[in-house]
Amino acid sequence: MNDPLKAPVFAPGMAALGAPFAVPVAPQAVQAPRWLAQNHALAQHAGAPAPWLHTPEALALLAGNTPATPAYATVYSGHQFGVWAGQLGDGRALLLGSTQGADGQVWEWQLKGAGLTPFSRMGDGRAVWRSSIREFLASEAMHGLGIATTRALALVGSDTPVRRERTEAAAVLTRLAPSFVRFGHFEHLGRDPQAMQTLLDWVLRQHFAPLAAVADPAERALAWFAAVLEATADLMAQWQAVGFCHGVMNTDNMSVLGLTLDYGPFQFMDAFDPAHNANHSDTGGRYVYQNQPQVAWWNLQCLAQALVALVPETEALTNALQRYPDAYAHAQAVAWARKLGLAHAAADALPVAQTWLTLLAKHRGDFTLSWRAISDALADCPDWADAAAHVRQALPSSLPTEEVAPWVVQLQQVAQRHGHAPRELGQRMQQVNPVFVLRNHMAQEAIEAAEAGDPSVLQALWQVLQTPTQPHPAHAAWAGPPPPWAHELVLSCSS
Ligand code: AMP
Ligand code: MG
Repeated sequence: MNDPLKAPVFAPGMAALGAPFAVPVAPQAVQAPRWLAQNHALAQHAGAPAPWLHTPEALALLAGNTPATPAYATVYSGHQFGVWAGQLGDGRALLLGSTQGADGQVWEWQLKGAGLTPFSRMGDGRAVWRSSIREFLASEAMHGLGIATTRALALVGSDTPVRRERTEAAAVLTRLAPSFVRFGHFEHLGRDPQAMQTLLDWVLRQHFAPLAAVADPAERALAWFAAVLEATADLMAQWQAVGFCHGVMNTDNMSVLGLTLDYGPFQFMDAFDPAHNANHSDTGGRYVYQNQPQVAWWNLQCLAQALVALVPETEALTNALQRYPDAYAHAQAVAWARKLGLAHAAADALPVAQTWLTLLAKHRGDFTLSWRAISDALADCPDWADAAAHVRQALPSSLPTEEVAPWVVQLQQVAQRHGHAPRELGQRMQQVNPVFVLRNHMAQEAIEAAEAGDPSVLQALWQVLQTPTQPHPAHAAWAGPPPPWAHELVLSCSS
């Protein structure tokens, strides 16, 4: 039996591919490492001995302070803001290897911010507390919402100075995912069909086992591309339905498993604005909320272009790419039907959701609060005859009755077509529409307290975000609208 105080035994994970895909890199130590957060449940789920995470050895390993640790950086390229950026790679992420959970799931472990790699380019290989706390909380918040994402296992703070707009301190985030392979890994190999085949077959064996058995290489690549397209379309529909803006949808930040990956200047929206831009550095507004599904399609086109190396019949790839509108329409029908409390995916959910979003945008209503208010109002409403009044009362007066009431009738018509009473609809909506999302000002509160030596706000916020559809009365302030100062928070790519 494994010693429960010993580090997990790592399999190589993607490092098994060796050079040129993954190159060995030693982590660089930080000064005065200390825990900011430890995700014991995830450690256990991923097959790490639970008591180990309490040990000084675990702290040293996950701070990057055990220099003999075999670790690897992988190489990828990508399109950034619509332009080919050439080689990028893991500039500040190191792969420790992989573990396997009791359920058979394989988890790759990465240290983010553990120092320079051959792919650091002009960067310092570090990440600051601010951005690492945001990534930790956002990963776990996303998971709490049931949306596919990389996970956060641990966060170590340090005193190592890091130069950004001001001098900050380094943190190291341990993040886990079944795979960190990005569209950019394939884009990097566009001129090397053999290497691409090696990477693809490895990805297939690890994560798309049924497709690995397809004998013809071109068909194999095509079938995989179709699966990536579906997963990406699903993810987009889920982001849209929860008001999430990623902020940096470059192709190097797109996971081939359809995971939310690389949390930078992301935002869960406050007031709804379809053109909301979460990233101050995105001056052209390429990645605003309403563009995300379309950008994902553009990114898939980049992936398809790379796969030309394996699929000589480019027409087949073009045709596969043309599936996106249908895949996204289906994903939307699933996501918005759930959001509206319908028991099954339904295309007629979409116009109801769209009418609501138009109304919300016109009056700048809060995305999360309004969806939850509607959920609570209906859950408490025995009869459709009273629904408009209930919903009206639950919403702020800035949303005019003459627009809210006809919308409730529209909702009622669809719900009745599906045989749902308002109470049933509302109760299902309560299971899907969160009370809590990680708004920028909430992350900021956790960051400022942690920087001042108090990680308890981070801990409390993390706890609430694990079950975001539950009320958590002790933290009612986080269930309310953002304070006025929230609008002044500006987020750029600097992290
Ligand atoms: P991002 O915009 O965070 O997705 O990063 C784009 C590229 O820049 C990736 O190759 C990252 O590894 C790299 N990068 C970002 N920040 C740093 C840093 N501080 N040090 C080294 N590389 C970095
Ligand atoms: Mg990135």
